[in-house]
Amino acid sequence: MNQLSLRCCQWLLVLALFGGGSVHAATAEFAWLEDGHSTLSADQVRALPEGRWQTFDPIDTLNLGLNDSTFWLKVEVPPEPANRVLEISYPMLDQVSVLWERAGRVVQTYRTGDQLPFDSRPIHHRNFVFLVPSNTEPVTAFVRIQTLGSVQIPVRVVRSGEFLAQEQIAFGWQAVFLGIMLAMALYNLFVYLIVRHITYLWYVLTVVASALVQLNLNGLLFQWLWPDFPLLNRYFTAPIISLNIAFAVLFAMSFLALRRYGPMLYRLAQVLVGLAVLSFFYGLFGSYQTGIVIVGAFGAVVTPLAFVTGLLVWWRGQVLAGFYVLAWTPLLLGHLVLAVSKLGYIPRSFVTELAPQLGVALEVILLSFALAYRINLERRGRLQAQEYALAVQRQANLTLEARVQERTEELERANEQLKAISLTDGLTQVANRRRFDEKLQVEWQRARRHQSPLSLLLLDIDHFKRVNDELGHLVGDDCLVSLAQLCAGELQRAGDLLARYGGEEFSVLLPSTSEDGAGRVAERLRMAIARTPVYPTDGGAPVNLTVSIGVATLIPTDGGEPAELIQRADEALYAARNAGRNRVNRWVSSSVYSDPARGTSGQSQ
Ligand code: GH3
Ligand code: MG
Ligand code: MG
Repeated sequence: MNQLSLRCCQWLLVLALFGGGSVHAATAEFAWLEDGHSTLSADQVRALPEGRWQTFDPIDTLNLGLNDSTFWLKVEVPPEPANRVLEISYPMLDQVSVLWERAGRVVQTYRTGDQLPFDSRPIHHRNFVFLVPSNTEPVTAFVRIQTLGSVQIPVRVVRSGEFLAQEQIAFGWQAVFLGIMLAMALYNLFVYLIVRHITYLWYVLTVVASALVQLNLNGLLFQWLWPDFPLLNRYFTAPIISLNIAFAVLFAMSFLALRRYGPMLYRLAQVLVGLAVLSFFYGLFGSYQTGIVIVGAFGAVVTPLAFVTGLLVWWRGQVLAGFYVLAWTPLLLGHLVLAVSKLGYIPRSFVTELAPQLGVALEVILLSFALAYRINLERRGRLQAQEYALAVQRQANLTLEARVQERTEELERANEQLKAISLTDGLTQVANRRRFDEKLQVEWQRARRHQSPLSLLLLDIDHFKRVNDELGHLVGDDCLVSLAQLCAGELQRAGDLLARYGGEEFSVLLPSTSEDGAGRVAERLRMAIARTPVYPTDGGAPVNLTVSIGVATLIPTDGGEPAELIQRADEALYAARNAGRNRVNRWVSSSVYSDPARGTSGQSQ
């Protein structure tokens, strides 16, 4: 804990040191002049009168914009009992020559710049650093600078010890920056390899390009990667910025789902990518100076545009756009701080100079977080979709089951209806012959099991042919219907079954009914029919009907057949008819009936 607070204090001190603009100028005096046609030689410059020089305060970086003139600096360094260095901390300068003069004599000359191999520098450093050649005598440095890019000359004279201490921090920060960029790029590259979503690839490429841009601007790429090929510097700066813009726009398009949330912006972004590709090739093959101007202006337009696009898409409801705006803010602020310090409104310091780089680092971290969050969102979305699909499926199953159930019930009902229809006589609506046969079979078995008597009545309407012939078939039908209803009304037991046996014959099955009981039922039916006239529906005169009824009763035995019962009842009926009709006749003995020569048989009651 103590260690930590100590570290924090150290950091605060460092920030205060740099933030306070403590660029140590000793008591050196700084002056500059512009040689518009690059005609002056070093000797001529040294001989120039004081009046030709303009003094400046090194706290404000000498910023002369894009200018291909030659610039001369004169730095008069008084003696001081400490080793010192002269540092020009803008590594993109093409040509930097330093001539040290002591007591009117040239003591040292250097020619370097990012157009010469890195070895040309007296001190191997990403910036241009030269040792002050004397501590005891006043010396003067004449610095000649010529560059095609932006002419920024941040120059200072600083004690070597202080320079080294600051360098530790500055270089440490560069290492941290590179670490962050590498970590984010690698992590998201792995995510891309697994998830295979193009957004991650654009992010990785943007991070790599941003890192290269920053490290290139800081002179580290030259120092680390191609110290012997200064020509590469000229072909790298503008194209890598173009690529950075292209990747950043491609990333924004896919991360913000621009096609969905802003079709116009999407088209604009496509145009920007096209322009970035063009400026990439222009940077390679066109004029270096124009290339730098183009990418500079391009970046200045695209950066705030991306921010505004993020805001707009956020406002339109894209959740991730909030992260995007958040990530883009430090980048914008970083550039703003740099611009404001360049304009001289706040003093130049370590912090102001590193503000854009800090912005890039924060942007990269926040976007990486947003990408991680995106995975979470997608996972949640997928889960919701799955749940929804499941719910739909479950609902579908339920509906299907319900429908199957409904159909089954309908079918069952239809079946029952069909069955009822198939077992009912169409005219009289009492059971038909098939139903009778089934029921007889069942009751026969039951009676056999219980050894209970099973009785059967067979009814035949007397002289029915006559009714038909004289009154017509319709009246005959009316008679059949009425008679069926009448008989049904007379039957009291639930197990009794009245059926239309055929034409004008009806049968009545009486389970568990003795011969006497059956005879009584038969007699009741006969009497009811005899006393109840039928009123035809056509309004004709009432018709009086009588019936002959044959009664048979059996206790079924093993091996016996129901047909036996029918035959007996039929025989009894036959006998009843022969005996004069309108009567009930019980079966007595088939042997009597089986001899037709004997005429009537059975017993009338
Ligand atoms: P019996 O007294 O000897 O029984 O004489 P019957 O005329 O009743 O007997 P028969 O068996 O000779 O005639 C039966 C008649 O029943 C024949 C037919 O005209 C009539 N019949 C049979 N089925 C129907 C029917 O569904 N509707 C009508 N209207 N008449 C029917
Ligand atoms: Mg008949
Ligand atoms: Mg008849």
